Amino acid sequence: MLAQESLPFDAVQAKTPASAGAGVDAVVPDFPPADPRAPAPQDVEGVMMRWMQPLVVDGDVHACPTCGAYRDWIVFCLRDDSVWLRCRAGHQVQEPRLNAAWFNRNSGPVDHWHPTLEDGLRHLGH
Ligand SMILES: [Zn+2]
Repeated sequence: MLAQESLPFDAVQAKTPASAGAGVDAVVPDFPPADPRAPAPQDVEGVMMRWMQPLVVDGDVHACPTCGAYRDWIVFCLRDDSVWLRCRAGHQVQEPRLNAAWFNRNSGPVDHWHPTLEDGLRHLGH
């Protein structure tokens, strides 16, 4: 099984919009400030959800290859369509049998935005 030491952490961070006009010495009267907005899907590198119950993949209960845990996952879906599973102990492995279509079928709507992976993990209770 393909095992990886860690996720490409940068990839799950929402991008920070570039600040408009930085360093440009110009006067633009009544220029409206940029509205704070939720990142659009094309701005987000990955989404994540907590999966408490045993995770069945192709009829098999997925177990962590490192510690044998089989429940309480954080499931990541990255923009490149890869799905990663993180056990409670923090072991992360890519699951090639799962993809974004699977993730979208099994996840709810995105309701929180996190600037960092760690922030998202904390929010999800890991
Ligand atoms: Zn584990």
